[in-house]
Amino acid sequence: MASGVEVKSSSIDGKGCYATHSFRKGRKISEYVGERISRHEIKRRLQGAQRIHICAIDSYWAIDGSVGGNGTQYINHSCNPNAFIKIINGRIYFYALRDIAPSEEITVDYIASWHDDETKCFCNAPNCRGTINKIQGRSGSS
Ligand SMILES: [Zn+2]
Repeated sequence: MASGVEVKSSSIDGKGCYATHSFRKGRKISEYVGERISRHEIKRRLQGAQRIHICAIDSYWAIDGSVGGNGTQYINHSCNPNAFIKIINGRIYFYALRDIAPSEEITVDYIASWHDDETKCFCNAPNCRGTINKIQGRSGSS
């Protein structure tokens, strides 16, 4: 488990990743670790997957946090997130988008995930767009 976080059940979806201490805006929360896989392997693993814990590095490589992950693979999507992803030298990191209090669930905006574009979002944010993926030309949940 990455330091400063813990995994508990989430009202958003299944399990979530929660802060165990505060993170100041702009501070690194953790690296997203797991198995490094290629585009071909991503496709194979997505078939029939119930839960997706794959995060893209670039158009070819990704990290599957369900193999050797440190808890950050449970970071859920929110349309009003408190963290964001930064890719540095082929590695994936989570940073605080704003101050995060202890016991807050850590969330990021997936923007373009491998989820189906119609996959509904249950983040409960006032500005929820209704789907996990941000679909071009669509705004809000209408
Ligand atoms: Zn949402």
